[in-house]
Amino acid sequence: MSESTPQLKFAADRMLGRLAKWLRVIGQDVIYGRHLSGYGLIRAARQQGRVILTRDRGLRLRQPPEFVFIESNDFREQLRQVVEKFSLTWRDDLFRRCLSCNGLLQPRSKDSVRDRVPEYVFSTQEIFFWCAGCRRIYWPATHHQKMLRELQQLGFR
Ligand SMILES: [Zn+2]
Repeated sequence: MSESTPQLKFAADRMLGRLAKWLRVIGQDVIYGRHLSGYGLIRAARQQGRVILTRDRGLRLRQPPEFVFIESNDFREQLRQVVEKFSLTWRDDLFRRCLSCNGLLQPRSKDSVRDRVPEYVFSTQEIFFWCAGCRRIYWPATHHQKMLRELQQLGFR
């Protein structure tokens, strides 16, 4: 992405939870939550300069900022639609974001997570990340492999 390109950001409506999660897996900045529908969604998108992703056909009547109507009910098709529409490259950005709250993940030393992960995880894993937003800890070996496998099953290579 060139420096002049503004960072693409999304706001997903509350019907698109799985899509939001998968966009985070591939590194996209996506807000999502119960409060994000109708005018709440429009307001958040406008304030934060986000592209709305919605399944709500009525949204267009409410003068939204830029939005994409998501055609399929199936999250795989939804992900494909967004990736193709915005030509998202995803390989370099995998697992940069917390799947739970959209925060950026940061590396964390093994010692510092000793009391915060299950013992078997601590004894078998070397690399840890954490989210400063919700304090969730991730260990890439298991999370990433599982997600990568699922992405491949979705047809992303
Ligand atoms: Zn988080």
